Parts: sequence; C-alpha cells; structure tokens
Amino acid sequence: MKTERIKTALIDGYLDEPSCLGVPPYVSPHIRYIYGALIDGGILPENIDFLTADHYRSQKEDRLVKLEEKDLVIILAGTTVPGNYLEGQPLSLTEIKELGEKLFYPTLVLTGPITLVWENLPGAAGLRENFDIITGEIGAARLYLRLCDQSGKAGRVEPSQLSNSLKKGGGGFTAEALSRWAIKGAEIFKRHPGYPRLLAEIETFRGCPRLRGCSFCSEQLKQVHYQRRPENITAEVREIAERGIHNYRLGCQTDLLNYTGRPDYRKISESAGSGTESVDSDAIPAWNNRVLKKLYSGIRKADPNLRVLHLDNINPGPLGRQSSRASRSLEIICRYNTPGDVAAFGLESADPKVIRSNNIDASPEETREAIRLINEIGGRREEGIPKLLPGLNFLLGLRGETSRSYELNLKFLESIKAEGLLLRRINIRQVNPLGSYQSQQVQRSKFLEFKEMVNQKINQPMLKKVFPRGTVIKNVWPVQLRGSLTFGRPPGSYPILIGIPGNHLARQEMEVQVIDHGYRSITALPYPFYVDRADLKELTYIPGIGKNRAQKIILERPDDYSELLKILGPSFPGEEWQDIFHFSSN
Ligand code: SF4
Repeated sequence: MKTERIKTALIDGYLDEPSCLGVPPYVSPHIRYIYGALIDGGILPENIDFLTADHYRSQKEDRLVKLEEKDLVIILAGTTVPGNYLEGQPLSLTEIKELGEKLFYPTLVLTGPITLVWENLPGAAGLRENFDIITGEIGAARLYLRLCDQSGKAGRVEPSQLSNSLKKGGGGFTAEALSRWAIKGAEIFKRHPGYPRLLAEIETFRGCPRLRGCSFCSEQLKQVHYQRRPENITAEVREIAERGIHNYRLGCQTDLLNYTGRPDYRKISESAGSGTESVDSDAIPAWNNRVLKKLYSGIRKADPNLRVLHLDNINPGPLGRQSSRASRSLEIICRYNTPGDVAAFGLESADPKVIRSNNIDASPEETREAIRLINEIGGRREEGIPKLLPGLNFLLGLRGETSRSYELNLKFLESIKAEGLLLRRINIRQVNPLGSYQSQQVQRSKFLEFKEMVNQKINQPMLKKVFPRGTVIKNVWPVQLRGSLTFGRPPGSYPILIGIPGNHLARQEMEVQVIDHGYRSITALPYPFYVDRADLKELTYIPGIGKNRAQKIILERPDDYSELLKILGPSFPGEEWQDIFHFSSN
C-alpha cells in the first residue's frame, strides 16, 4: 500500500516520566514528534486520526469500531512515576492489552516510556503477541525509519543519517529531526479534545548529564541523548502560538540548568572525563547562561501573547555547589518566566547514608543552599504570587533507608521552615521498582505517618505563607466538581489545587481569592467576592462565619462593611477580611 493511503490512528495514552509530563492539560513533546514524523514519512494529515486516552475511553465501543477500519494504530504510553491526575487518566496496561485483543485488522504499534519497562510489567507477555513494540527509544524516529523502509522512499529527513545518529546514541542529527517534527506536530493542539486549555510541555534536552546516575532512576535506561538548539525550540513555540496555545513548560529535561544547546554534550563530557564525576571538572557539561538567556528571550519573542512560561526539574546539587554561577541563571529565568513557577528539586532523602548508597547527587546542605538561592532570587512577588520557588521531592523505599532516615527528612524540612524559607510543594512518593534495583520495603503505617507529619508541620504552614489569605490567583481553570466545591488549577508547573464553593464548571477560567488552607490545596472565592450577593455555601466556607451567621447575612443582606460586622459580631476578626468582602452597591 502506498504510504499516503495508510489510514492511521494515533492514540495519546499519556506519559509521565521523571523528566517529562504528558497528562492533560500537558501535551508531551513525544506525541507531537510522532505526528510530525508520520507526515514526514509520507502519511497524509487527513489520514491521521488523533485521539487521547480519555477520548478513547469515553466512547470505547464506537472508537473500537472505527479503529478496526484503520491500517495502522499507534499508541504512545508509559507512566514510570506514580501520579494522581485531575484532568486525564493514562491508558492502563489492561486497556492497552484490551486494544491488542479487540483489534484484528490494523497493525498495532506500541511506543513510549512503557517500552522501557514493559517486560517487567505483570501480564506483559500478551503485549508481544499483538503489538509491534518499538522498544528502541525515540518512537518518532523509529516509526519514521520504518515508513521510509516500507515505501522505499526517503522522507524529508535522510534515513541513513538518522539511523546512524540513533546508533551512536543521538546527538545533533536526531535533535534536528525531532525539532522539525515538533513544528509539524504543533497541529496536534488544535485536534486535542482539551483545546485550548492545554500546556505545551517543551523538551530542551534528553538524558541525565551525570556520567553515573542515581541507582533507582529510569533515565539511565535511555540510550539516546541530545540537546536541542534554542533556535529550534523558539521556532516550535512560534508554531504552537499560531495555534492559539500560549502556555509552556520547559519540563522535559533532567536538569534545566544543564541546558547548553550543544547537541553533542554527552560525547564531550565522556571524552573529557574518565568516567568518574568530579564537581567542577569539564566532565560535567558546560553551564551556559548565554544559551539559557537566548532560549528564554527567544521564547518570549516567539510568542508575544505568552501567558505561562514555567520550568520543571533542576538538580539542586550543582546549584548549591556553584551558587554564584547559578545566581545568574536564576536571574535570567526570573526575568522571563511568569509568576508561580516551581523548580522541582530531587533531594530524595536527607539521610547521608541513603544518598551515598544510591549515588544521589545532592547533599542536604547543597539542597539547602539551592533553596536559599531560589528564595532570594525567585521569592519576590509578581501579581501577588512568588515568581519562582523550589519544590522538593522525597523518595521512600530507597536502598539503605532506616527509620532514622524518616527522622532526618522531617528534621531537614523543619530546619528549612525555621529559617523562614519557602517551599512551594513537597512530593513524597515510593520507589517504583526498576530492573534489578532492590528497593527497601516501605511500611505503610510509617509512610502514612511521615506524610501526615509533613502535612501538619510543613505543608499547611508553607501554603499559608506562599498564598496568604487574600491572595488573588488569576487564570484558574475549573475542572472537576466534588460535592459542593469546584476544583481548579491555574496552568503551570505544579499548580496549586483550589477548591471554589459552588459549581463553576461552565466557566472557561476564573479569578479567585484565597480564604483558607488545607495541607495540599487551598479554598478560594470567586474574585471579586460580593458578600451581599453570596449564597449560603460560599458564606459557610468562610472560616469563622458558620451556618448561623451565613443564614443571617442572607436574610439581612448588608449594604456595607459596618452592617456586615454588626451581623458577624465582635468575635469575628473583621479587620482580616476587609479586603476580601466587597459590596455590589459600592
Ligand atoms: S540526577 Fe539522578 S534522578 Fe536526576 S536524572 Fe540523573 S539519574 Fe535521574
């Protein structure tokens, strides 16, 4: 069959890796690369049906009938870190297997991070029978090579050069091909069911810059590495912006400050070093602030209507060790990013023994220094929200962990709080079994106890400081109704979960004002909040009002603040709420 006639379905089963997020509202770069590669490989855009995991699930039987009419069905999937998602549910192994069992005619291809770990998954054997599993990396490139092979024609990217580049472990040619496909793949946004409430996850580079990685981390399974040039990334942003998306997260890399724009950085590092790492040597890729500035300023120029520019991972080790160079990088980021940005730090454990046993890069002291630095440079508020704050990741069940490790973790967090430093969020998860890595058994009671202590002693006080009562948060996307609260989040990196009294699902986005703090979420009222028009539910969520006073407010409908205070009585701390309560007549 001629390639252009191949009827194809591309299913985004969503991916979530330590270095990349592709669960809505985030759209992974990988799905966009694949779409671009299919077109470059000769498949006509009108012959490609795009659907997401949720889209497929919502009308499964109908979709299965339509999928059966295709020649080729490609599934991108794989969550290698556990996650709770509000707006999308990744395709499960059971669902993937079901697709394999129910579809007969089309050729089925499975690609994505799932192919790095699939052999260890329970019941994975059935996958091999029904799917053509692209176990190599960079599914887009492998699919493109297959299409060229099948048609006997070279597409726009020279297949032999691409193939050689992949064999050598990546580098510039692979990065250039992917960047070309990223531009074509921008079309995915308009075909996405979540359009336009989407964020583009942008890849800057691939691979861990450390020569010998942390023993538990799936990044080591990746054999292909590359860096993307800033010009290519900004060209991609321009294409995405033209499709009406203006939210970006530089979230697809292992450590943003190691972005150099040099496609062959790993080769350089390997030839310069002897395989052992040393902190200040050339064996660690250059930290290139000039390129970082080019990247950030280029993105701003490429999308003058940009609304969100956030980042994800930064390794706290190098940041804490080289604070003067890091300061300049952070200043660049904070000049161009948008408020509410979060740099997630993988401390993983504050126990030095665990750090050594697992070859983790950052010590607690280096992480503390990195937290100080981000607070100093990124802690200033813009539009009422801190510009850039650190997030902290803990991993439980690491080799060498004891009950003392839990104590050290908590002690570390308490010392950060005592120093007056802010953390935007703390992520506590368990090690995902990977290959031969022997994780430590985590006692459920201990895990829950630690989480509870962190919630009470750290998370809630931190939330009160990061989002004090009265803070106005813009661009909140309402997404889910639970009981009498609508839950929503502003787009961005690790966005705060906000409960808003009432049903606001019909609204595309809203502005809210913070009134109360949970452990990992906050409660907010629509902004501005007109107390004389409020309903009972809204009023009862306000701390200190209660049902009786709320009913009284509704009955008496005060016209101004002094009338309201009379209803609330002297025990209500009126001065704390003056900026929050508005009156429609004033
Ligand atoms: S530094 Fe460690 S956790 Fe981060 S990507 Fe490298 S191996 Fe993984």
